[in-house]
Amino acid sequence: MREFDYRRAHDVTGAVALLAADPDARYLGGGTNLVDLMKTGVERPALLVDVRELPLDRIEPTADGGLRIGATVTNSDLAVHPEVRRHYPALTQALLAGASGQLRNMATVGGNLLQRTRCGYFTDLSQPCNKRAPGTGCPAVAGEHHNHAVLGASDHCVAVHPSDMGVALTALDAVVSYESADGPGEVPVTDFYLPVGDTPHRETALPPGALITQVTLPAAPVAARSRYRKVRERASYAFAIGSVAAALTIEDGRIREARLALGAVASRPWRARAAEAVLTGAPADGATFAAAADAELAAARPLPHNGYKVTLMRNLVVSVLTELAGEDAR
Ligand SMILES: Cc1cc2nc3c(=O)[nH]c(=O)nc-3n(C[C@H](O)[C@H](O)[C@H](O)COP(=O)(O)OP(=O)(O)OC[C@H]3O[C@@H](n4cnc5c(N)ncnc54)[C@H](O)[C@@H]3O)c2cc1C
Ligand code: SF4
Repeated sequence: MREFDYRRAHDVTGAVALLAADPDARYLGGGTNLVDLMKTGVERPALLVDVRELPLDRIEPTADGGLRIGATVTNSDLAVHPEVRRHYPALTQALLAGASGQLRNMATVGGNLLQRTRCGYFTDLSQPCNKRAPGTGCPAVAGEHHNHAVLGASDHCVAVHPSDMGVALTALDAVVSYESADGPGEVPVTDFYLPVGDTPHRETALPPGALITQVTLPAAPVAARSRYRKVRERASYAFAIGSVAAALTIEDGRIREARLALGAVASRPWRARAAEAVLTGAPADGATFAAAADAELAAARPLPHNGYKVTLMRNLVVSVLTELAGEDAR
């Protein structure tokens, strides 16, 4: 492990200035991903700027009925917040489905969004990997890829994004705010992760050295009836092999509003716009739900060993929407 300096930031401007002055510096949230990557040599920062004492640990209502979530709020605190539980239950469920209690007590909102892929080649320095070392190749395409992407991938990288929280935030139209050396900015979470293309090492729309300061959830009455369901190879303490965040509003048996995002299928949490278009205005029944899943998964391009994900996701989408429709009818 490379020797590194450690600084504790007390204000946002100071934190951003430290990163601007040193391209080898990294922000430190809970450290649950970054420190692991430092131990294996995937990350080799010269300086860690600890952001946990910044005044970004609040969850507050916004004037228009949404919620503003500071970037250093822990995953545990966010999961149990009464407003999140009441108005955005899919977010609580997604957070509680992630990692373990101990990890959630450390992990922050900003760090969760920026956690890196769990692709085994990415963390194995003896292997090539376009994401870690651009231009070296992607051994996963012809190698071990049973939990890799079926949507939106390229020959250059087929890794999936591992965040559960990010899938719920994507369905809920969250907006990420940041501060950079050039000033503040914001980006919808649906545009936060860049398409893979031939630059899988460029992962997000954040300017270099930018600090995530908050995530804003807009008011969304539809989200009060929302759900997150995760499929994994063990009952707990495992990353998803597929997940769904969904919300539905049904009136007179027809779907008035639908939100759907899929996890562990792409390099980013995947907003299922094609499925939403089929759902909106259609009867809330099994045929509609199956048609919606098929519309989204028509774009799937599975690899030899991950074709099961297409069937898994179809069944998961239909099952979660059926459950939500039943809940709506009560
Ligand atoms: C054993 C294990 C199991 C796990 N299982 C799951 C799971 O099932 N589901 C799931 O979703 N996750 C899972 N995780 C991942 C976990 O959720 C992440 O490690 C965690 O959310 C990262 O948050 P952190 O604050 O610790 O980030 P850190 O490790 O501190 O940082 C991660 C990255 O974000 C950057 N960063 C941190 N804060 C900011 C900020 N405010 N602005 C800009 N950059 C920032 C850092 O520089 C770093 O690049 C698991 C992790 C482990 C170790
Ligand atoms: S899938 Fe992406 S992260 Fe994995 S080896 Fe290929 S380029 Fe690297």
